[in-house]
Amino acid sequence: MGQRKEIPNDIQVRVLTSSRRRCALCVGVNRNEDERLGQIAHLNGDNSDNRFDNLVWLCLEHHNQFDSRTSQTKNYMAKEVKEYRDDLYKNNSHLKYTMDDIKSVSECLKAYGPLFGYLFRENSELAFTIKFIAIDEMERFVYSYDTSLRYSSKGISDIFERIAHCFRALHSVYHLDMYNAVGENLIFNSAKYSVSDLDCQKRAVQQIVDAIRSEYDKLVVMV
Ligand SMILES: [Zn+2]
Repeated sequence: MGQRKEIPNDIQVRVLTSSRRRCALCVGVNRNEDERLGQIAHLNGDNSDNRFDNLVWLCLEHHNQFDSRTSQTKNYMAKEVKEYRDDLYKNNSHLKYTMDDIKSVSECLKAYGPLFGYLFRENSELAFTIKFIAIDEMERFVYSYDTSLRYSSKGISDIFERIAHCFRALHSVYHLDMYNAVGENLIFNSAKYSVSDLDCQKRAVQQIVDAIRSEYDKLVVMV
């Protein structure tokens, strides 16, 4: 078991808003949908594992019960709690977003899945080379966002706005002078620019892709 590490703020916020401070066990077992005083618990018992998927909002009693190893009776199992938590998130997301919104998000994730997949997979290589088609797709996303894509939920619109902003920022990393068109790719001009220039580009790209990733993750839990 790892040492307790502070849960990053943005992840705490996601747990709090996804659960709306409803305890997964109060709702799942007792059908008590009230807001509860509580704590963020680690499903696998590892206090250093602060992945969003490993966390759950539990009221104090349920947190105690879940964590207690001495109980003579059958304790709550992590899988069981996770199942209640997932149900709770799903119900909450339907409260927060209209079905039309969720459908649009799901269609968007399908349409741009390959682009997101490419960006996340190639993250560290992107400063050196990027496919034209990825740049085209990002432009298409920004354009469709600017012109037609509107969500009734401000929360979702904000996420798309931030992704569009990141795509514009990523686009501007590829100054024409620093890159050459080679076949289907843009490739860093290493004849004219140094390794440290490339490192600088790498840091910029990584920061942007990380930001895209955190927005993308928010969309994924909605659908
Ligand atoms: Zn509870």
